[in-house]
Amino acid sequence: MEKLIITLALTGNVPTKELNPDTPVTPEEIAYDLKECCKNGVSLAHIHARDEKQRPTHDRGIYKNILDEIKKKKVNVITQLSTGARGGENTVESRGQMLDLDCDMASLATGSSNFPMSINANTPDLIKGLINKMNESNIKPEIEAFDIGMIDGAKRLLKQGILKAPLHFNLVMNVPGSIAGNPKNLMFMVESLPEGSTWSVCGIGSAQVPMLTMAMLLGGHVRTGLEDTILYKKGVQATNRMLVDRVVRISKELGRQIATPDEAREILCLGKKKSIVGKLLKKR
Ligand code: ZN
Repeated sequence: MEKLIITLALTGNVPTKELNPDTPVTPEEIAYDLKECCKNGVSLAHIHARDEKQRPTHDRGIYKNILDEIKKKKVNVITQLSTGARGGENTVESRGQMLDLDCDMASLATGSSNFPMSINANTPDLIKGLINKMNESNIKPEIEAFDIGMIDGAKRLLKQGILKAPLHFNLVMNVPGSIAGNPKNLMFMVESLPEGSTWSVCGIGSAQVPMLTMAMLLGGHVRTGLEDTILYKKGVQATNRMLVDRVVRISKELGRQIATPDEAREILCLGKKKSIVGKLLKKR
């Protein structure tokens, strides 16, 4: 079976220091936490930016500071920036403002759904606008499927030639208001993916351990981190490190080897990191 890619969603839009004191929110904290977790098997970082009041933002400058901190700390990791709703206005200009930065991937929802308190609004024009910006900058989208219809939405865009194969999906399970996290739903989603796609699963809250374990058994990849659950178990606050360690432990018990960042790059069909390509070009 393919080696396991572990994605770490360190921060998200919801956790704050008040909800969980170990939530990394500043660029320095994010890079530090990421470096620690990469030592243990994380190969892909799903990154959100926060302003000085810990509020979610798509501010290009803050995203740049985060990427610079990661580089400064010499963390070898695939970088994926969030273009998700809840970080500002629902326009391409706002949600896609960081898509010219030196990152490998960006998140992309191919449909709309509900969050517990708000709407995950993604109009057809917004989706296409974000994809165009990603294509221009050679950024691979990770399609965030909060529901089965978003997989069909991605298939339509693939057929139209707007999205390019092979696609990579993250199946987001158990957000209150979107698809529930249970084995039947996960099988349905996996069986609905376009052939040749790679996929990972994240399970929100109590769906975390069962859905990630099932993904490992099915040959998929996994995402964990405080974005998906701030509790390790009932009554116990999580840290990113604790969540990663648990995933590593389960994968070892199941006999699934863990991918290095370079192996993950190959599995996801990512090219060489742009900064490296840039350096090579400059040398010529
Ligand atoms: Zn996210």
